[in-house]
Order: sequence, then C-alpha cells, then structure tokens
Amino acid sequence: MSDTITLVNPATGRAFREIPRAGLAEVDAAIAGAVAAQRAWAALAPVARADALRAFARVVEAHVDELAALEVENSGHPIGSARWEASHVAQVLNYYAAAPERLIGQQIPVAGGLDVTFHEPYGVVGIIVPWNFPMTIASWGFVPALAAGNAVVLKPAELTPLTAVRLGELALEAGLPAGLFQVVTGSGSVVGQRFVSHPDVRKVVFTGSTEVGTDVAAGCARMLKPVTLELGGKSANIVFADADLERAAASAPGSVFDNAGQDCCARSRLLVERSVYDRFLELLEPAVQAWRVGDPASPDTDMGPLISASHRDTVAGFLDDADVAFRGAAPGGDGFWFAPTVVLASPGDRIAQDEVFGPVVAVLPFDDEADAIRLANDTIYGLAGSLWTENLGRAVRVARGVKSGVLSVNSHSSVRYATPFGGMKASGLGRELGPDAAEHFTETKNVFFATD
Ligand code: NAP
Ligand code: MG
Repeated sequence: MSDTITLVNPATGRAFREIPRAGLAEVDAAIAGAVAAQRAWAALAPVARADALRAFARVVEAHVDELAALEVENSGHPIGSARWEASHVAQVLNYYAAAPERLIGQQIPVAGGLDVTFHEPYGVVGIIVPWNFPMTIASWGFVPALAAGNAVVLKPAELTPLTAVRLGELALEAGLPAGLFQVVTGSGSVVGQRFVSHPDVRKVVFTGSTEVGTDVAAGCARMLKPVTLELGGKSANIVFADADLERAAASAPGSVFDNAGQDCCARSRLLVERSVYDRFLELLEPAVQAWRVGDPASPDTDMGPLISASHRDTVAGFLDDADVAFRGAAPGGDGFWFAPTVVLASPGDRIAQDEVFGPVVAVLPFDDEADAIRLANDTIYGLAGSLWTENLGRAVRVARGVKSGVLSVNSHSSVRYATPFGGMKASGLGRELGPDAAEHFTETKNVFFATD
C-alpha cells in the first residue's frame, strides 16, 4: 500500500493533493498520546472544559469559508451546503459546551449512608467517519465525546479527509491540549480496525455502510467495547391523497437528491397514494427539471457530482433494469456527474430495496394507510422518513407505525443538533445528537459513603 493517499476533485476528476496514510505504529502513537491527554482533560474544572469548547466553536466560526471551500474541492458539495455544514460544526460545539457543567448524577436514598452516581468518561473514543458528510458526522461524535471528558481519535474516510484534518488543527489553534483530539488519515482496514482492536480505545462510533458496521460491531463485541452505529437507509417519503400535493412535490427532489443522494437519510422511496399517483408525478416532473446540477462552487447549484468514478458506476448499475419515468439534467465533462432520476418500481425490485446512495428515487403506489405503513416498513433499514397529510390523526398513527428513528411530518428535516438522530433495524444502534449525547460517552459509577 502506498504511504500517501491521492485526493481527487469529484467535479473535475483531477488529482489535487497527497496526504499521509498512517500505518499501525502511527495509530498506536496517536492513541498513546490520547490516553495521556485525556487524564489531564478530565481533571480540569468542568467550566474550563466548557470554555475550551466555546473557544473551539469561535475558531471554527472564523474559518467557515475556508472549511467550506475545502469541502467543495474535496467532496464536490455545493458551496451553500458546505457553508451550512461548517457552521453546523460550530453550533454543535456551542450546544455541547454546556454539557461539562450539566453531567448531573443522582443521589439515591439508601440505608446507612449516602449514595451518588458519577458520569465517568470512557477514556479514549475512536470515531470512524464516511465520505458523504465529512465535517458534520465527525462533529456529532467528537464534540459530545470531548464534552464528556474523553479524548478522541478520529479517522476520516480516505476519499474526504481534508476538513477533518483542518478541524484537528483548529482545535489546537483554539487552545485544546495537544493529543486530545487527533485526526489520523489512513485506510479503514488499518486505522479503523485498530480503533476496534486497541485495548485503550474504550468506545467506538462508526458511521458508514451496514456491511462494514456489522464487522466493526463484531470486533467491538470481542473487546467488550460499546459501539454506536449509524448505517445505511432506504427511507420512505409517503404522500397521502389529502396532502398539500404542490408542497410535497416541490420538496421531494431536495429530500432525495440533496448531496447527490449520498445521504443516509435520503427519501429514496416515494410512496404515493394510488388515487393521486398520476397527478403527483405530473407535479414532480417540473420540480426535478428545476433541480440545478452543476459547478459546486456556484451559489446557484443544488447538486454537485458523485464522489468517485467507481461510485458513479455503482449508481448507474441500478438503472440497468429500471423503468425510468424521467430524468433531470447534468453537465458533461470529466467530473463524476449523474442526472437526477425518477424510476417507477414494484416493492420487490432491487431499486426499491437496496440503498443506491445516488440521485435516484423509486416511486411506488399504495392503496390506503395500512398499505403505506406496510410498504414503508418493507426494507431491512429504518433510519428516516417523511409523511405528507393534512389529517392529524393519520399523521400520528403513521409516524408511530413506521419503524424508523427519525420521522418528519409535512417536511423533510432529519438533523437538528438539539434532537436525537439514529436508526432502527439495519440502520444502526444507539443515538447521536440531542440533549443526552454527552451522557452516551460516559459510564455510570455508583459510590456509597457509609455514615454509620
Ligand atoms: P464504509 O465503506 O462503510 O466506510 C465508512 C468508514 O469506515 C470509512 O472511514 C472507511 O475507511 C472505514 N472502514 C472501512 N473498512 C473498515 C474496517 N474494516 N474497519 C474499520 N473501518 C473501516 O461506508 P462509506 O462507503 O464510506 O459510506 C457510505 C455509507 O455510510 C452508506 O451506507 C450510508 O448510508 C452510510 N451513512 C450512514 C449515516 C447515518 O448516520 N446512519 C450517515 C452517513 C452515511 P476508508 O473507506 O477510508 O478505508
Ligand atoms: Mg467504502
């Protein structure tokens, strides 16, 4: 294996940078440094850790444009999205900066003494991140982990390491102690696996494919390490006949084509009540045509290229035997472009079951509320979902009936740092974000003080 990783700009297909590929010795050195840094970090006053995270947030805020430009070049994200992502990292830091002073234990009534619980940090947490949202997904792990008193070693995806590397530098610039938050670039089979096998990494957070996540979980089980898994999805966007069809159609392209469909929460199955199926497709077509695919550096762009040539081949393979209803436009040239595509599907089709991770949506009709819930649940995944209806009772029933971790009624929101995020079934284990995320990076210790 080469000792560097070559980065390619997905909008041009051209290589633009080499970065180091860490070997085992470098990973082990990073973990050893993290062990030492964590002891000092956990010993600080809670307010000192809070202040350090607020300082980190301010430095990230001051570098939003730089981080966004790196994501445009490395990942092909549209500049507007990339700026949102960088600002989101600062907001996550500000939100969890409150956590060090609020990791409140319990005082439990017992006979003969005083009983209290403490939220103790694990020590070193290993975080493994995919290429689709390099900054945001990293921050959902490293921020609450640091807030809870842990050190973090972070492995970005080989394809998209630049913003994570820069965040590691900004942490030092903000005054976080050396060793506390380290970004180690390299392959999953070396760096990622070492987080799983190293005895001093006491918790692992993995975001990526269900296949690799299952292996990571098995490895963590052998080491008796807790693991959080954020995996794949095949989320449903359910449109009932009584919905505001214009709004539902106008928002459907963004719900699945955002980030070129390389979004674990993509609403890649569009379930439409049969009585409005034809009408809905008529409304959807102009919305798809209006979805602007092009230069990610342009503020008018809705969608950039796919991440790599091989990923584009994988996505294209899904269209081999598909019934394409209509497609949007995409530029030509050397970038990894793919036009947004709407496919008519039946429940058992591969396009209706497997995660495409590209700008392809499968449309399926349903008959009634029970049929909609049954179809929505007819996949191994259970990450997100949306439903469109003007009937409040139905909205509650369907939201409770769909087995997914994150649902949205009359909108497509999935991620807010203040609310919990994560999947059911093959989409994952555990939750990130929300009020409790820092606690998920602690173990409860119970201490009894005898008074008699
Ligand atoms: P992936 O192939 O599973 O890789 C994810 C990360 O794991 C990368 O950093 C990868 O490193 C590393 N890795 C690979 N093999 C490993 C191993 N044996 N041990 C430890 N780490 C290993 O996933 P991807 O193709 O990058 O990302 C796409 C997938 O992520 C999709 O399925 C998507 O749905 C899922 N995803 C889920 C969420 C969520 O929150 N639920 C969010 C985003 C993405 P290298 O590739 O650098 O070697
Ligand atoms: Mg992969």
